[in-house]
Amino acid sequence: MAARKCCALSTLEVMLTVVFVAMTAVSVALISIMATPTTNTCPGPTPPPGSTPPPAPEPSFLIGVGRADCTGPPAEIPLMGYANPQQTAAGIHTRLFSRAFIMDDGRRRVVFVSVDVGMISQRLRLEVLEALQAKYGKRYRQDNVILSGTHTHSGPAGYFQYTLFMLSSKGYLKSSVQPLVKGIVKSIERAHDSVRPGRIYKNRGRVDASSVNRSPHSYRNNPRDEQNRYEENVDKDIVLLKFTDLDGDGIGMLSWFAVHAVSMKTTNRLVSGDNMGYAAYLMEKHKNPAALPGQAAFVAAFSSSNLGDVSPNIRGPHCVNSGLACDYLNSSCPDGGTKECQAFGPGGDMFDSTRIIAHNIFTKARELYASAVEEVTGFVHSAHQWINMTDVTVYINDTHAVSTCKPALGHSFAAGTTDGGGDLNFTQGAVEGDPFWDGIRDALLGEPSNQTQECHRPKPILFSTGEMKWPLPWHPEIIDVQILTVGSVAVAAVPGEITTMAGRRLREAVQQELESGPSGAFLDADVVIAGLSNVYTHYITTYEEYQLQRYEGASTIYGPHTLSAYVLKFAELARAIAQDRVEGLPAGPRPPFFQKNLFNLLPAASTDSKPPNSSFGDVLQQVLPVYRQGDLASVTFVAGNPRHSGDVRDQSFVAVETHDKTSDRWTLVHTDASWETRFHWLKGSGRQSNATVEWRIPPNAAAASYRIKHFGHYKSMKGLRPVITPYQGTSDVFRVLDTFYSK
Ligand code: ZN
Repeated sequence: MAARKCCALSTLEVMLTVVFVAMTAVSVALISIMATPTTNTCPGPTPPPGSTPPPAPEPSFLIGVGRADCTGPPAEIPLMGYANPQQTAAGIHTRLFSRAFIMDDGRRRVVFVSVDVGMISQRLRLEVLEALQAKYGKRYRQDNVILSGTHTHSGPAGYFQYTLFMLSSKGYLKSSVQPLVKGIVKSIERAHDSVRPGRIYKNRGRVDASSVNRSPHSYRNNPRDEQNRYEENVDKDIVLLKFTDLDGDGIGMLSWFAVHAVSMKTTNRLVSGDNMGYAAYLMEKHKNPAALPGQAAFVAAFSSSNLGDVSPNIRGPHCVNSGLACDYLNSSCPDGGTKECQAFGPGGDMFDSTRIIAHNIFTKARELYASAVEEVTGFVHSAHQWINMTDVTVYINDTHAVSTCKPALGHSFAAGTTDGGGDLNFTQGAVEGDPFWDGIRDALLGEPSNQTQECHRPKPILFSTGEMKWPLPWHPEIIDVQILTVGSVAVAAVPGEITTMAGRRLREAVQQELESGPSGAFLDADVVIAGLSNVYTHYITTYEEYQLQRYEGASTIYGPHTLSAYVLKFAELARAIAQDRVEGLPAGPRPPFFQKNLFNLLPAASTDSKPPNSSFGDVLQQVLPVYRQGDLASVTFVAGNPRHSGDVRDQSFVAVETHDKTSDRWTLVHTDASWETRFHWLKGSGRQSNATVEWRIPPNAAAASYRIKHFGHYKSMKGLRPVITPYQGTSDVFRVLDTFYSK
């Protein structure tokens, strides 16, 4: 999708363009059954005097965009991603949002939703679909709605129905699920209510210095001639759709880029959108500078893609204890194993790394958005199937058939990655079991069957999750495959973390099927992968990468032929779209929606207590009277447990206010969603807790008077009845001085 030079043309160029457009229109009419007229891709150039103005372009699509807060309780709930039980939420750095985009060609409608969440779980999707059905009937369904997670590792866990994930999330937590479901549905509602005629443009460009391959050893096991077709071992392209109304005013932007949202490390305790969330934040701020975070009219999403082996920690791994290089093959250190081998980002700390990676992605997106002139025209399509992923047969040639397996995780799954290592003595690249752990496994969970062991070879099985059903199945068997297309842009919703090369193979297969369709509507199709979509199934590597059993291969749960099965299934969907016979696709087996045996291991939050002679909201540590721009202002309050604040969407635990002398009014300048603020909740002794609010005063903050507020709720008992009471606290007023004058 090379950007066509478009605007500010000379008269000669205009004439040539008119001829070109006319010829294109003719050829399109000949080869296409598309009804939408080909239009000038250049929005609104003034025709030169004397020339006949081009006919008014027809609106291409109906478009709706919407964003909603989906932040869950920022306390005590494990953060989803690193599976580290100590990493529980304790405050907010940035809020989490769901961003929805509706595209409609007048006949059909598709919805793409990017959510600041570790991954979309099957349970989450089913609950969202149920809520959509209750509100909109058959309008929004499993086949025309894609939900995709940005893969932030700093959002509350607990929205899964399969046992393995429930165990690492302290269960199925209603308090975690509901804000996600409500936030996602709200974003779709807002998009639905904003639907209007508009135009879509596409663009593509390269984001540098923001991603590296974290398993190059696996990547290099791919066929040499395949590797030679690519310059890099990660995909650095960002693909972007720009949405405008008919006046050409921008209303939204949707992009896909492949990088793990793990700039925030396992030591982080604050809810955060990580690098992708912050890129969206920056783009929305760029378009609506005056709006508070999450309140801009413009909606910008940065969706995940084939990020399976892609890390944002671009300085790469080294041994934290010794400073030496890690072992290349298994990413471990002589002392301390995999835990000591960690990769870090470009910044001085994880916040700084998040900022730098987000800025890189945002800066490229802003540039591509501004220069996007290639209009997307045509129809929208969507194709979806549920399939039983445990027994898909694939013919690799005319005679040789292979099959997927019941889900299982290999030993190296427990090693983690250089973005966040496991705690035990597992290493990546294990192709043999460990008698010690295998013994424990057999005693506690049962031995994997011979059939499963054989199917997954060379993976040494640590957890034979497909054979573990108590109290509920440990992993999904029924998964979603789904493609939506807008004009010649196709979005393949992959239910997991697909590696770079695996993603390329999948994209190519989809593209081939689309382009071979009889209508010609998909010539030069652009296929993008939307990662972490619809249901979480861990990783998808190539067959060759799988053989080395690093973390990604060990986590390819349906066995060595997982990718081949996806290629087959996605190609079938693409073929159905290209031949316009999506209606004939069988829906497939409906996934289970478990009502019983969901468990919750998170104890109810206890009542709150406070120091003697104090009240909730009292200041324990006061601000300084004066700060300079660039300083850190900090204040600590007597606090309640944030879990007592219930549904915290569209609220804030924090307010930074400035005083306007003329009107003698306080104006809100930052909330807890702001990058500049950090809300830390600190559990003290007994039932006491504190809230510390930090404000990193921006260098461009107005020299003025400010104050910081904290809002919360505390729980007490009235007899046997728990009572939740709101409170607030306010710091002293302080001055921020202009750095220049205060020197
Ligand atoms: Zn991941």
